[in-house]
Amino acid sequence: MGLEEHLPSGILLTSVEKVAGYARKSSVWPATFGLACCAFELFSAGGPRHDLARFGMERAAATPRQADLMIVAGRVSQKMAPVLRQIYDQMSEPKWVISMGVCASSGGMFNNYAIVQGVDHVVPVDVYLPGCPPRPEALLDSILKLHDKIQNMKLGVNRDKEITELEQASLRRLRLAPGTTA
Ligand code: SF4
Repeated sequence: MGLEEHLPSGILLTSVEKVAGYARKSSVWPATFGLACCAFELFSAGGPRHDLARFGMERAAATPRQADLMIVAGRVSQKMAPVLRQIYDQMSEPKWVISMGVCASSGGMFNNYAIVQGVDHVVPVDVYLPGCPPRPEALLDSILKLHDKIQNMKLGVNRDKEITELEQASLRRLRLAPGTTA
């Protein structure tokens, strides 16, 4: 956002975090992006029955620069992986990724050389959605979970601190932190 870096820490920053979190979660725009059969469930979620418009998300951006959510709907081929990464890099910050379906999350039943065995090898994933294919209701549930994450996202120095703590916790878990033995 930019503004948070110039604000003092304390009660004002906490309030800004809440307001920014609310604004961000209420204005998530997905990129137009479908890779395989899961994409049809994604399209269905945008229809009147499931009504993505209730979240203000019915406008799928035709350019990555106007999108901040990538829903990876379907298996990612090795050939598509660099394209997917390029689209992700062109999306505006802050941005989020939902891995929709077992193929996107782990390669699924396509355990072969042509398919990336999990899109988290290519882009960071915020929410993993299981199923083959996940129903639109499951996608809505994953969007609500993402909204929770965005609402509670810290800003500025608090975010840097949170990232450092998470990294340290991961290193400790892998026994790679200083003072732990492998
Ligand atoms: S998870 Fe199932 S529905 Fe989704 S892309 Fe893979 S095979 Fe298709």
